[in-house]
Amino acid sequence: MSDKDSTAGSDFIRSRVQKDISEGRLPQGVVTRFPPEPNGFLHIGHAKSICLNFGVANEHGGATYLRFDDTNPLKEDDRYVEAIKADVRWLGFEWADRLTHASDYFEQLYSFAADLIKVCKAFVCDLSQEQMREYRGTLTAPGRDSPYRNRSVEENLDLFRRMRAGEFADGSRVLRARIDMASPNINMRDPVLYRIRKVSHQRTGDAWPIYPTYDYTHCICDALEHISHSLCTLEFEDHRPLYDWVIDNINVNYHPPQIEFSRLGLEYTVMSKRLLHRLVDEGHVEGWDDPRMPTIAGLRRRGYTPESIRDFCARVGVTKQDNTIEMELLEFCIRADLENRAPRGMAVLDPLKVVLTNWPSGRVETMQAPWHPKLPALGGRDMPFSGTLFIDRDDFAESPPPGFKRLAPGGIVRLRYGYVIRCESVVKDAAGRVTELVCTYLPDSRSGQDTSGAKPKGVIHWVDAGSAVPVSIRLYERLFSVPNPDSARFTEELNADSLRVATGLLEPAIAASLEDRFQFERVGYFVRDEERPNTWNRTVSLKDSWTPGA
Ligand code: ATP
Ligand code: MG
Repeated sequence: MSDKDSTAGSDFIRSRVQKDISEGRLPQGVVTRFPPEPNGFLHIGHAKSICLNFGVANEHGGATYLRFDDTNPLKEDDRYVEAIKADVRWLGFEWADRLTHASDYFEQLYSFAADLIKVCKAFVCDLSQEQMREYRGTLTAPGRDSPYRNRSVEENLDLFRRMRAGEFADGSRVLRARIDMASPNINMRDPVLYRIRKVSHQRTGDAWPIYPTYDYTHCICDALEHISHSLCTLEFEDHRPLYDWVIDNINVNYHPPQIEFSRLGLEYTVMSKRLLHRLVDEGHVEGWDDPRMPTIAGLRRRGYTPESIRDFCARVGVTKQDNTIEMELLEFCIRADLENRAPRGMAVLDPLKVVLTNWPSGRVETMQAPWHPKLPALGGRDMPFSGTLFIDRDDFAESPPPGFKRLAPGGIVRLRYGYVIRCESVVKDAAGRVTELVCTYLPDSRSGQDTSGAKPKGVIHWVDAGSAVPVSIRLYERLFSVPNPDSARFTEELNADSLRVATGLLEPAIAASLEDRFQFERVGYFVRDEERPNTWNRTVSLKDSWTPGA
Protein backbone atom coordinates (compact mmCIF):
# COMPACT_ATOMS: atom_id res chain seq x y z
CA MET A 1 0.00 0.00 0.00
CA SER A 2 1.36 3.44 -0.82
CA ASP A 3 2.35 5.76 2.00
CA LYS A 4 0.24 8.57 0.59
CA ASP A 5 -2.88 7.07 2.12
CA SER A 6 -4.57 9.41 4.49
CA THR A 7 -4.35 7.95 7.96
CA ALA A 8 -7.33 5.97 9.05
CA GLY A 9 -7.77 8.22 12.07
CA SER A 10 -9.77 7.15 15.05
CA ASP A 11 -13.33 6.00 15.49
CA PHE A 12 -15.37 4.14 18.05
CA ILE A 13 -14.33 0.75 16.67
CA ARG A 14 -10.63 1.55 16.68
CA SER A 15 -10.94 2.92 20.22
CA ARG A 16 -12.61 -0.30 21.30
CA VAL A 17 -9.88 -2.42 19.67
CA GLN A 18 -7.19 -0.29 21.32
CA LYS A 19 -8.88 -0.72 24.69
CA ASP A 20 -9.19 -4.48 24.28
CA ILE A 21 -5.48 -4.66 23.48
CA SER A 22 -4.36 -2.51 26.39
CA GLU A 23 -6.53 -4.45 28.80
CA GLY A 24 -4.99 -7.70 27.63
CA ARG A 25 -8.17 -9.18 26.21
CA LEU A 26 -6.72 -10.28 22.88
CA PRO A 27 -4.10 -12.98 23.52
CA GLN A 28 -4.52 -14.10 19.88
CA GLY A 29 -4.28 -10.58 18.50
CA VAL A 30 -6.71 -8.66 16.33
CA VAL A 31 -8.60 -10.94 13.95
CA THR A 32 -11.30 -9.61 11.63
CA ARG A 33 -13.17 -10.94 8.64
CA PHE A 34 -14.85 -9.59 5.55
CA PRO A 35 -17.84 -11.88 4.84
CA PRO A 36 -19.35 -11.21 1.41
CA GLU A 37 -22.14 -13.28 -0.02
CA PRO A 38 -21.05 -14.28 -3.56
CA ASN A 39 -24.32 -13.17 -5.13
CA GLY A 40 -23.14 -10.04 -6.94
CA PHE A 41 -20.17 -7.74 -7.39
CA LEU A 42 -18.76 -5.66 -4.55
CA HIS A 43 -19.70 -1.99 -4.36
CA ILE A 44 -18.28 1.10 -2.71
CA GLY A 45 -20.23 0.28 0.47
CA HIS A 46 -18.37 -3.01 0.68
CA ALA A 47 -15.14 -1.04 0.20
CA LYS A 48 -15.92 0.74 3.45
CA SER A 49 -16.28 -2.58 5.23
CA ILE A 50 -13.13 -3.98 3.56
CA CYS A 51 -11.06 -0.93 4.50
CA LEU A 52 -12.36 -1.15 8.05
CA ASN A 53 -11.82 -4.88 8.57
CA PHE A 54 -8.45 -5.16 6.86
CA GLY A 55 -7.42 -1.71 8.08
CA VAL A 56 -8.05 -2.35 11.78
CA ALA A 57 -6.21 -5.68 11.63
CA ASN A 58 -3.27 -4.24 9.65
CA GLU A 59 -2.87 -1.42 12.15
CA HIS A 60 -2.20 -3.99 14.89
CA GLY A 61 -0.31 -6.64 12.97
CA GLY A 62 -3.44 -8.78 13.06
CA ALA A 63 -5.13 -10.98 10.49
CA THR A 64 -8.23 -10.76 8.31
CA TYR A 65 -10.21 -13.60 6.79
CA LEU A 66 -11.90 -13.29 3.46
CA ARG A 67 -14.87 -15.52 4.21
CA PHE A 68 -17.49 -16.27 1.59
CA ASP A 69 -20.89 -16.45 3.17
CA ASP A 70 -22.14 -19.11 0.76
CA THR A 71 -25.24 -20.44 2.47
CA ASN A 72 -27.76 -19.60 -0.27
CA PRO A 73 -26.72 -21.57 -3.39
CA LEU A 74 -29.74 -20.34 -5.37
CA LYS A 75 -28.27 -16.90 -5.83
CA GLU A 76 -24.57 -17.61 -5.65
CA ASP A 77 -22.06 -18.13 -8.39
CA ASP A 78 -18.35 -18.77 -8.84
CA ARG A 79 -18.14 -15.81 -11.15
CA TYR A 80 -18.92 -13.56 -8.18
CA VAL A 81 -16.38 -15.34 -6.01
CA GLU A 82 -13.65 -14.57 -8.55
CA ALA A 83 -14.78 -10.97 -9.02
CA ILE A 84 -14.83 -10.39 -5.26
CA LYS A 85 -11.31 -11.76 -4.82
CA ALA A 86 -10.02 -9.61 -7.65
CA ASP A 87 -11.65 -6.52 -6.18
CA VAL A 88 -10.36 -7.01 -2.64
CA ARG A 89 -6.85 -7.57 -3.97
CA TRP A 90 -7.10 -4.56 -6.26
CA LEU A 91 -8.11 -2.41 -3.29
CA GLY A 92 -4.75 -3.36 -1.80
CA PHE A 93 -5.63 -6.04 0.75
CA GLU A 94 -4.27 -9.56 1.16
CA TRP A 95 -5.85 -12.45 3.04
CA ALA A 96 -2.92 -14.85 2.45
CA ASP A 97 -4.08 -18.31 3.55
CA ARG A 98 -7.14 -16.98 5.32
CA LEU A 99 -9.63 -17.64 2.55
CA THR A 100 -12.62 -19.49 3.99
CA HIS A 101 -16.22 -20.29 3.15
CA ALA A 102 -19.21 -20.83 5.37
CA SER A 103 -19.51 -24.09 3.45
CA ASP A 104 -16.13 -25.22 4.86
CA TYR A 105 -17.99 -25.56 8.17
CA PHE A 106 -21.18 -27.28 6.98
CA GLU A 107 -20.36 -30.54 8.77
CA GLN A 108 -19.48 -28.74 11.99
CA LEU A 109 -22.60 -26.57 11.77
CA TYR A 110 -24.74 -29.67 11.32
CA SER A 111 -23.23 -31.31 14.35
CA PHE A 112 -23.78 -28.19 16.52
CA ALA A 113 -27.41 -28.19 15.37
CA ALA A 114 -27.83 -31.81 16.44
CA ASP A 115 -26.32 -30.82 19.82
CA LEU A 116 -28.93 -28.06 20.15
CA ILE A 117 -31.66 -30.64 19.51
CA LYS A 118 -30.23 -32.89 22.21
CA VAL A 119 -30.57 -30.17 24.84
CA CYS A 120 -34.09 -29.25 23.63
CA LYS A 121 -32.90 -25.97 22.13
CA ALA A 122 -33.91 -26.80 18.57
CA PHE A 123 -36.79 -28.65 16.93
CA VAL A 124 -38.02 -29.67 13.50
CA CYS A 125 -41.09 -27.68 12.52
CA ASP A 126 -43.60 -28.69 9.82
CA LEU A 127 -45.50 -25.41 9.60
CA SER A 128 -45.72 -23.98 6.11
CA GLN A 129 -44.03 -20.64 5.44
CA GLU A 130 -47.37 -18.94 5.56
CA GLN A 131 -48.33 -20.55 8.86
CA MET A 132 -44.94 -19.64 10.31
CA ARG A 133 -45.56 -16.03 9.42
CA GLU A 134 -48.95 -16.19 11.08
CA TYR A 135 -47.55 -17.78 14.25
CA ARG A 136 -44.69 -15.30 14.42
CA GLY A 137 -46.82 -12.42 15.75
CA THR A 138 -46.02 -8.77 15.10
CA LEU A 139 -43.94 -5.99 16.61
CA THR A 140 -46.81 -5.36 19.04
CA ALA A 141 -48.29 -8.84 19.45
CA PRO A 142 -46.38 -11.87 20.76
CA GLY A 143 -46.10 -14.97 18.60
CA ARG A 144 -47.58 -18.41 19.33
CA ASP A 145 -45.75 -21.65 19.92
CA SER A 146 -45.55 -23.99 16.96
CA PRO A 147 -47.57 -27.19 17.49
CA TYR A 148 -44.32 -29.07 16.69
CA ARG A 149 -42.35 -27.30 19.40
CA ASN A 150 -42.55 -30.12 21.92
CA ARG A 151 -41.46 -33.01 19.75
CA SER A 152 -39.18 -35.42 21.57
CA VAL A 153 -35.43 -35.23 21.19
CA GLU A 154 -35.46 -38.64 19.45
CA GLU A 155 -38.10 -37.60 16.93
CA ASN A 156 -36.29 -34.30 16.22
CA LEU A 157 -32.94 -36.04 15.76
CA ASP A 158 -34.51 -38.58 13.45
CA LEU A 159 -36.30 -35.93 11.36
CA PHE A 160 -33.23 -33.71 11.17
CA ARG A 161 -31.11 -36.66 10.06
CA ARG A 162 -33.67 -37.47 7.39
CA MET A 163 -33.79 -33.82 6.30
CA ARG A 164 -30.10 -34.17 5.66
CA ALA A 165 -30.59 -37.48 3.88
CA GLY A 166 -32.84 -35.70 1.41
CA GLU A 167 -36.03 -37.55 2.36
CA PHE A 168 -38.29 -34.48 2.46
CA ALA A 169 -39.43 -31.98 -0.13
CA ASP A 170 -38.14 -28.42 -0.33
CA GLY A 171 -39.96 -26.20 2.12
CA SER A 172 -41.77 -29.03 3.89
CA ARG A 173 -39.83 -28.75 7.14
CA VAL A 174 -37.27 -26.51 8.84
CA LEU A 175 -35.08 -26.76 11.89
CA ARG A 176 -35.83 -23.95 14.34
CA ALA A 177 -34.18 -22.72 17.50
CA ARG A 178 -36.37 -23.11 20.58
CA ILE A 179 -36.08 -19.73 22.26
CA ASP A 180 -39.11 -17.59 23.06
CA MET A 181 -42.17 -16.88 20.91
CA ALA A 182 -43.12 -14.00 23.22
CA SER A 183 -39.77 -12.21 22.90
CA PRO A 184 -40.14 -8.51 22.04
CA ASN A 185 -37.36 -9.16 19.51
CA ILE A 186 -38.87 -11.01 16.56
CA ASN A 187 -35.47 -12.48 15.68
CA MET A 188 -35.68 -14.47 18.92
CA ARG A 189 -39.07 -16.04 18.17
CA ASP A 190 -37.84 -19.54 17.39
CA PRO A 191 -35.83 -18.48 14.31
CA VAL A 192 -35.14 -20.89 11.46
CA LEU A 193 -31.68 -22.52 11.57
CA TYR A 194 -31.93 -24.88 8.56
CA ARG A 195 -34.01 -25.01 5.39
CA ILE A 196 -34.49 -27.83 2.91
CA ARG A 197 -33.24 -26.71 -0.49
CA LYS A 198 -32.36 -29.34 -3.05
CA VAL A 199 -30.06 -27.13 -5.02
CA SER A 200 -26.51 -27.80 -6.09
CA HIS A 201 -23.95 -25.70 -4.30
CA GLN A 202 -21.01 -24.24 -6.23
CA ARG A 203 -18.58 -25.85 -3.77
CA THR A 204 -20.32 -28.76 -2.06
CA GLY A 205 -22.25 -29.93 -5.09
CA ASP A 206 -25.22 -32.11 -4.14
CA ALA A 207 -23.84 -33.19 -0.76
CA TRP A 208 -26.33 -31.04 1.15
CA PRO A 209 -30.08 -30.83 0.58
CA ILE A 210 -30.32 -28.57 3.66
CA TYR A 211 -28.64 -25.22 4.15
CA PRO A 212 -28.06 -23.26 7.38
CA THR A 213 -29.36 -19.69 7.71
CA TYR A 214 -27.11 -16.67 7.84
CA ASP A 215 -27.90 -15.90 11.50
CA TYR A 216 -27.01 -19.41 12.59
CA THR A 217 -23.92 -19.70 10.42
CA HIS A 218 -22.26 -16.37 10.77
CA CYS A 219 -21.70 -16.33 14.50
CA ILE A 220 -20.38 -19.90 14.53
CA CYS A 221 -17.88 -19.15 11.75
CA ASP A 222 -16.78 -16.09 13.71
CA ALA A 223 -16.24 -18.23 16.81
CA LEU A 224 -14.37 -20.99 14.94
CA GLU A 225 -12.09 -18.44 13.30
CA HIS A 226 -11.57 -16.71 16.63
CA ILE A 227 -12.66 -13.35 15.26
CA SER A 228 -11.73 -10.73 17.85
CA HIS A 229 -14.19 -8.12 16.52
CA SER A 230 -17.09 -9.11 14.28
CA LEU A 231 -17.85 -5.84 12.52
CA CYS A 232 -21.15 -5.57 10.70
CA THR A 233 -23.67 -3.00 9.62
CA LEU A 234 -26.40 -1.56 11.81
CA GLU A 235 -29.27 -3.64 10.44
CA PHE A 236 -27.75 -6.57 12.36
CA GLU A 237 -28.10 -4.84 15.72
CA ASP A 238 -31.44 -6.57 16.34
CA HIS A 239 -29.85 -9.89 15.39
CA ARG A 240 -27.14 -9.58 18.03
CA PRO A 241 -29.18 -11.32 20.78
CA LEU A 242 -29.54 -14.31 18.44
CA TYR A 243 -25.83 -14.18 17.59
CA ASP A 244 -25.08 -14.34 21.30
CA TRP A 245 -27.71 -17.00 21.99
CA VAL A 246 -26.27 -19.39 19.41
CA ILE A 247 -22.73 -19.00 20.72
CA ASP A 248 -23.88 -19.37 24.33
CA ASN A 249 -25.74 -22.59 23.56
CA ILE A 250 -23.20 -24.53 21.54
CA ASN A 251 -19.96 -26.04 22.65
CA VAL A 252 -17.34 -23.48 21.60
CA ASN A 253 -14.85 -21.97 23.98
CA TYR A 254 -14.82 -18.53 22.45
CA HIS A 255 -17.49 -15.85 22.12
CA PRO A 256 -16.72 -13.13 19.54
CA PRO A 257 -18.28 -9.70 20.05
CA GLN A 258 -20.48 -8.31 17.28
CA ILE A 259 -20.07 -4.55 16.81
CA GLU A 260 -22.27 -2.59 14.42
CA PHE A 261 -21.50 0.49 12.33
CA SER A 262 -23.56 2.43 9.80
CA ARG A 263 -23.78 1.47 6.15
CA LEU A 264 -22.34 3.75 3.54
CA GLY A 265 -24.84 5.39 1.24
CA LEU A 266 -23.81 7.48 -1.75
CA GLU A 267 -25.89 10.08 -3.57
CA TYR A 268 -27.03 9.60 -7.17
CA THR A 269 -26.68 5.85 -7.02
CA VAL A 270 -28.18 2.75 -5.45
CA MET A 271 -26.27 0.29 -3.33
CA SER A 272 -28.57 -2.64 -2.65
CA LYS A 273 -27.46 -5.73 -4.52
CA ARG A 274 -31.05 -6.44 -5.49
CA LEU A 275 -31.27 -3.12 -7.30
CA LEU A 276 -27.79 -3.44 -8.79
CA HIS A 277 -28.84 -6.83 -10.14
CA ARG A 278 -31.86 -5.24 -11.77
CA LEU A 279 -29.75 -2.53 -13.39
CA VAL A 280 -27.61 -5.26 -14.95
CA ASP A 281 -30.34 -7.80 -15.73
CA GLU A 282 -32.73 -5.28 -17.26
CA GLY A 283 -29.98 -3.76 -19.38
CA HIS A 284 -29.99 -0.28 -17.87
CA VAL A 285 -26.20 -0.55 -17.76
CA GLU A 286 -23.79 -2.67 -19.76
CA GLY A 287 -22.76 -4.97 -16.90
CA TRP A 288 -21.52 -5.07 -13.32
CA ASP A 289 -18.37 -3.24 -14.40
CA ASP A 290 -20.14 -0.51 -16.33
CA PRO A 291 -18.22 2.67 -15.41
CA ARG A 292 -21.46 4.24 -14.14
CA MET A 293 -22.00 1.52 -11.55
CA PRO A 294 -20.99 2.08 -7.90
CA THR A 295 -19.26 -1.31 -8.01
CA ILE A 296 -15.53 -1.61 -7.39
CA ALA A 297 -15.20 -3.10 -10.89
CA GLY A 298 -17.16 -0.17 -12.36
CA LEU A 299 -15.13 2.41 -10.48
CA ARG A 300 -11.91 0.72 -11.60
CA ARG A 301 -13.02 0.79 -15.21
CA ARG A 302 -14.07 4.40 -14.73
CA GLY A 303 -10.46 5.19 -13.78
CA TYR A 304 -10.67 5.34 -9.99
CA THR A 305 -7.51 4.23 -8.21
CA PRO A 306 -7.38 1.99 -5.11
CA GLU A 307 -5.73 4.88 -3.28
CA SER A 308 -8.62 7.22 -4.06
CA ILE A 309 -11.19 4.72 -2.81
CA ARG A 310 -9.26 4.03 0.38
CA ASP A 311 -8.91 7.76 0.91
CA PHE A 312 -12.66 8.15 0.41
CA CYS A 313 -13.41 5.44 2.96
CA ALA A 314 -11.03 7.02 5.46
CA ARG A 315 -12.69 10.41 5.00
CA VAL A 316 -16.17 8.97 5.38
CA GLY A 317 -15.10 7.40 8.67
CA VAL A 318 -16.90 4.88 10.82
CA THR A 319 -19.85 5.88 12.97
CA LYS A 320 -23.23 4.65 14.06
CA GLN A 321 -25.09 7.42 12.21
CA ASP A 322 -26.67 6.49 8.92
CA ASN A 323 -25.36 8.77 6.26
CA THR A 324 -25.58 9.37 2.54
CA ILE A 325 -22.35 10.80 1.26
CA GLU A 326 -22.19 13.41 -1.48
CA MET A 327 -20.85 12.15 -4.79
CA GLU A 328 -18.60 15.21 -4.76
CA LEU A 329 -16.50 13.66 -2.00
CA LEU A 330 -15.72 10.62 -4.14
CA GLU A 331 -14.91 12.89 -7.08
CA PHE A 332 -12.75 15.08 -4.85
CA CYS A 333 -10.74 12.02 -3.77
CA ILE A 334 -9.95 10.86 -7.30
CA ARG A 335 -9.02 14.36 -8.44
CA ALA A 336 -6.77 14.77 -5.42
CA ASP A 337 -5.03 11.49 -6.23
CA LEU A 338 -4.66 12.00 -9.98
CA GLU A 339 -3.63 15.63 -9.75
CA ASN A 340 -0.13 14.71 -8.64
CA ARG A 341 0.18 11.47 -10.47
CA ALA A 342 -1.45 11.42 -13.91
CA PRO A 343 0.58 12.78 -16.82
CA ARG A 344 -1.08 15.61 -18.71
CA GLY A 345 -1.52 15.84 -22.43
CA MET A 346 -3.80 17.38 -25.00
CA ALA A 347 -6.95 16.00 -26.53
CA VAL A 348 -9.71 17.72 -28.46
CA LEU A 349 -13.19 16.31 -27.95
CA ASP A 350 -15.23 18.58 -30.20
CA PRO A 351 -12.79 19.44 -32.98
CA LEU A 352 -12.82 22.70 -34.97
CA LYS A 353 -10.24 22.92 -37.74
CA VAL A 354 -7.70 25.77 -37.76
CA VAL A 355 -5.54 26.54 -40.80
CA LEU A 356 -2.53 28.86 -40.44
CA THR A 357 -2.28 30.60 -43.80
CA ASN A 358 1.23 31.97 -43.23
CA TRP A 359 2.73 28.63 -42.10
CA PRO A 360 5.40 27.56 -44.61
CA SER A 361 3.97 24.77 -46.68
CA GLY A 362 5.33 21.34 -45.73
CA ARG A 363 7.13 22.54 -42.60
CA VAL A 364 6.73 20.47 -39.42
CA GLU A 365 8.14 21.81 -36.15
CA THR A 366 8.41 19.85 -32.95
CA MET A 367 7.14 21.39 -29.74
CA GLN A 368 8.42 20.03 -26.45
CA ALA A 369 6.51 19.80 -23.22
CA PRO A 370 6.78 18.03 -19.87
CA TRP A 371 4.20 15.40 -19.03
CA HIS A 372 3.47 17.19 -15.78
CA PRO A 373 4.36 20.75 -14.74
CA LYS A 374 5.38 19.66 -11.22
CA LEU A 375 6.65 16.13 -11.79
CA PRO A 376 9.83 16.24 -13.87
CA ALA A 377 10.34 12.54 -13.18
CA LEU A 378 7.49 11.81 -15.58
CA GLY A 379 9.63 13.17 -18.42
CA GLY A 380 8.26 14.92 -21.46
CA ARG A 381 7.10 14.45 -24.99
CA ASP A 382 7.34 15.87 -28.48
CA MET A 383 4.40 17.35 -30.32
CA PRO A 384 4.62 17.75 -34.07
CA PHE A 385 3.17 21.01 -35.36
CA SER A 386 2.31 21.29 -39.06
CA GLY A 387 0.26 24.47 -39.35
CA THR A 388 -3.10 22.72 -39.59
CA LEU A 389 -4.66 21.82 -36.28
CA PHE A 390 -7.81 21.27 -34.28
CA ILE A 391 -9.00 23.19 -31.26
CA ASP A 392 -12.10 22.58 -29.16
CA ARG A 393 -15.18 24.25 -30.59
CA ASP A 394 -15.83 25.77 -27.15
CA ASP A 395 -12.59 27.72 -27.37
CA PHE A 396 -13.92 29.84 -30.22
CA ALA A 397 -16.78 32.34 -30.08
CA GLU A 398 -17.98 34.25 -33.09
CA SER A 399 -19.62 36.79 -30.82
CA PRO A 400 -17.60 36.49 -27.63
CA PRO A 401 -19.38 37.27 -24.38
CA PRO A 402 -17.70 39.92 -22.17
CA GLY A 403 -14.59 38.57 -20.52
CA PHE A 404 -14.10 35.77 -23.09
CA LYS A 405 -10.37 34.99 -23.05
CA ARG A 406 -10.13 32.54 -25.92
CA LEU A 407 -10.33 32.87 -29.69
CA ALA A 408 -12.70 35.25 -31.50
CA PRO A 409 -12.65 36.86 -34.96
CA GLY A 410 -9.74 39.32 -35.07
CA GLY A 411 -8.48 38.18 -31.66
CA ILE A 412 -5.38 36.31 -30.54
CA VAL A 413 -4.81 33.34 -28.25
CA ARG A 414 -1.82 31.21 -27.30
CA LEU A 415 -1.68 27.57 -28.28
CA ARG A 416 -0.39 25.69 -25.23
CA TYR A 417 3.37 25.02 -25.66
CA GLY A 418 3.12 26.59 -29.14
CA TYR A 419 2.59 29.84 -30.98
CA VAL A 420 0.23 32.77 -30.62
CA ILE A 421 -2.35 32.75 -33.41
CA ARG A 422 -4.81 35.35 -34.70
CA CYS A 423 -8.21 34.53 -36.18
CA GLU A 424 -8.47 36.26 -39.56
CA SER A 425 -11.73 34.82 -40.89
CA VAL A 426 -14.31 32.14 -40.47
CA VAL A 427 -15.54 29.48 -42.93
CA LYS A 428 -19.14 28.29 -42.60
CA ASP A 429 -21.23 25.60 -44.19
CA ALA A 430 -24.59 26.12 -45.88
CA ALA A 431 -26.35 25.84 -42.52
CA GLY A 432 -24.26 28.67 -41.10
CA ARG A 433 -22.21 26.45 -38.83
CA VAL A 434 -18.52 27.35 -38.45
CA THR A 435 -16.43 24.62 -40.08
CA GLU A 436 -12.97 26.14 -40.12
CA LEU A 437 -10.99 29.07 -38.77
CA VAL A 438 -8.57 30.81 -41.08
CA CYS A 439 -5.74 32.06 -38.87
CA THR A 440 -2.17 33.33 -38.96
CA TYR A 441 0.56 32.65 -36.43
CA LEU A 442 3.02 35.15 -34.94
CA PRO A 443 6.41 33.72 -36.00
CA ASP A 444 8.30 35.20 -33.00
CA SER A 445 5.86 33.90 -30.42
CA ARG A 446 6.93 30.30 -29.94
CA SER A 447 6.42 29.31 -26.31
CA GLY A 448 9.60 29.75 -24.26
CA GLN A 449 11.23 31.86 -27.04
CA ASP A 450 8.59 34.59 -27.37
CA THR A 451 9.92 37.97 -28.50
CA SER A 452 6.72 39.06 -30.21
CA GLY A 453 5.43 41.21 -27.36
CA ALA A 454 1.94 39.85 -28.02
CA LYS A 455 -0.23 39.62 -24.94
CA PRO A 456 -2.92 37.01 -25.52
CA LYS A 457 -5.40 36.73 -22.64
CA GLY A 458 -5.86 33.01 -22.95
CA VAL A 459 -4.07 29.72 -23.58
CA ILE A 460 -5.94 26.90 -25.30
CA HIS A 461 -5.17 23.25 -26.03
CA TRP A 462 -4.92 21.82 -29.52
CA VAL A 463 -3.84 18.83 -31.53
CA ASP A 464 -1.94 18.76 -34.79
CA ALA A 465 -4.06 17.68 -37.74
CA GLY A 466 -1.24 15.73 -39.35
CA SER A 467 -0.54 13.48 -36.39
CA ALA A 468 -3.61 13.47 -34.11
CA VAL A 469 -5.06 10.04 -33.33
CA PRO A 470 -8.85 9.65 -33.44
CA VAL A 471 -10.32 7.70 -30.52
CA SER A 472 -13.69 6.94 -29.05
CA ILE A 473 -14.40 8.96 -25.91
CA ARG A 474 -17.05 7.92 -23.42
CA LEU A 475 -18.32 10.78 -21.31
CA TYR A 476 -20.01 9.49 -18.18
CA GLU A 477 -22.34 11.37 -15.91
CA ARG A 478 -24.22 10.28 -12.80
CA LEU A 479 -26.38 7.22 -13.30
CA PHE A 480 -29.41 8.77 -11.58
CA SER A 481 -30.93 12.19 -11.96
CA VAL A 482 -31.93 12.44 -8.28
CA PRO A 483 -29.69 12.25 -5.20
CA ASN A 484 -31.72 9.57 -3.44
CA PRO A 485 -33.33 7.22 -5.97
CA ASP A 486 -36.54 5.65 -4.69
CA SER A 487 -36.15 1.88 -4.75
CA ALA A 488 -39.79 1.44 -5.81
CA ARG A 489 -39.38 3.44 -9.02
CA PHE A 490 -35.66 3.85 -9.45
CA THR A 491 -35.62 2.86 -13.11
CA GLU A 492 -37.67 5.98 -13.86
CA GLU A 493 -35.09 8.08 -12.13
CA LEU A 494 -32.17 7.04 -14.29
CA ASN A 495 -30.27 9.90 -15.91
CA ALA A 496 -30.95 9.62 -19.65
CA ASP A 497 -27.66 11.40 -20.38
CA SER A 498 -25.41 9.27 -18.22
CA LEU A 499 -23.35 8.25 -21.25
CA ARG A 500 -22.40 10.26 -24.30
CA VAL A 501 -20.00 8.83 -26.86
CA ALA A 502 -17.84 11.23 -28.87
CA THR A 503 -14.94 10.97 -31.25
CA GLY A 504 -11.93 12.77 -29.91
CA LEU A 505 -8.45 13.52 -31.20
CA LEU A 506 -5.39 12.77 -29.08
CA GLU A 507 -1.92 14.16 -29.43
CA PRO A 508 0.14 11.24 -30.78
CA ALA A 509 2.33 10.85 -27.67
CA ILE A 510 -0.71 9.96 -25.53
CA ALA A 511 -1.82 7.32 -27.98
CA ALA A 512 1.72 5.88 -28.05
CA SER A 513 2.21 6.00 -24.28
CA LEU A 514 1.95 2.98 -22.02
CA GLU A 515 0.21 5.00 -19.33
CA ASP A 516 -3.46 4.27 -18.74
CA ARG A 517 -4.53 7.45 -17.00
CA PHE A 518 -4.13 10.99 -18.25
CA GLN A 519 -5.34 14.42 -17.55
CA PHE A 520 -6.51 15.79 -20.88
CA GLU A 521 -5.60 19.39 -20.19
CA ARG A 522 -8.55 21.65 -19.47
CA VAL A 523 -10.93 18.75 -20.14
CA GLY A 524 -10.74 16.15 -17.39
CA TYR A 525 -9.18 12.91 -16.25
CA PHE A 526 -9.47 9.97 -18.60
CA VAL A 527 -8.55 6.30 -18.56
CA ARG A 528 -8.12 3.73 -21.31
CA ASP A 529 -11.08 1.37 -21.33
CA GLU A 530 -10.09 -2.14 -20.21
CA GLU A 531 -12.28 -3.85 -22.78
CA ARG A 532 -12.75 -1.66 -25.83
CA PRO A 533 -9.70 -0.90 -27.95
CA ASN A 534 -8.97 2.72 -28.75
CA THR A 535 -11.52 3.93 -26.24
CA TRP A 536 -11.13 6.29 -23.31
CA ASN A 537 -13.49 6.72 -20.38
CA ARG A 538 -13.87 10.01 -18.59
CA THR A 539 -13.12 9.41 -14.93
CA VAL A 540 -14.05 12.87 -13.73
CA SER A 541 -14.14 16.40 -15.05
CA LEU A 542 -11.68 18.99 -13.80
CA LYS A 543 -14.02 21.31 -11.99
CA ASP A 544 -12.90 21.11 -8.43
CA SER A 545 -14.34 24.02 -6.53
CA TRP A 546 -15.93 21.62 -4.04
CA THR A 547 -13.98 21.00 -0.85
CA PRO A 548 -14.71 18.44 1.86
CA GLY A 549 -16.61 19.80 4.79
CA ALA A 550 -17.41 23.09 3.01
P1 ATP B 1 -27.39 -6.77 0.11
O1 ATP B 1 -28.07 -6.73 1.46
O2 ATP B 1 -27.59 -5.57 -0.73
O3 ATP B 1 -27.57 -8.07 -0.62
P2 ATP B 1 -25.15 -7.22 1.74
O4 ATP B 1 -24.81 -6.00 2.45
O5 ATP B 1 -25.89 -8.22 2.51
O6 ATP B 1 -25.87 -6.77 0.41
P3 ATP B 1 -22.88 -8.88 1.74
O7 ATP B 1 -22.17 -9.51 0.63
O8 ATP B 1 -23.56 -9.77 2.72
O9 ATP B 1 -23.91 -7.90 1.08
O10 ATP B 1 -21.94 -7.87 2.49
C1 ATP B 1 -20.67 -8.23 2.99
C2 ATP B 1 -20.25 -7.27 4.06
O11 ATP B 1 -20.22 -5.94 3.57
C3 ATP B 1 -21.22 -7.29 5.22
O12 ATP B 1 -20.46 -7.37 6.41
C4 ATP B 1 -21.94 -6.00 5.13
O13 ATP B 1 -22.32 -5.52 6.37
C5 ATP B 1 -20.94 -5.09 4.44
N1 ATP B 1 -21.63 -4.06 3.67
C6 ATP B 1 -22.53 -4.26 2.69
N2 ATP B 1 -23.02 -3.09 2.25
C7 ATP B 1 -22.40 -2.12 2.94
C8 ATP B 1 -22.48 -0.69 2.95
N3 ATP B 1 -23.29 -0.04 2.12
N4 ATP B 1 -21.70 -0.02 3.80
C9 ATP B 1 -20.86 -0.67 4.63
N5 ATP B 1 -20.75 -2.01 4.69
C10 ATP B 1 -21.50 -2.73 3.86
MG1 MG C 1 -25.72 -10.01 3.41
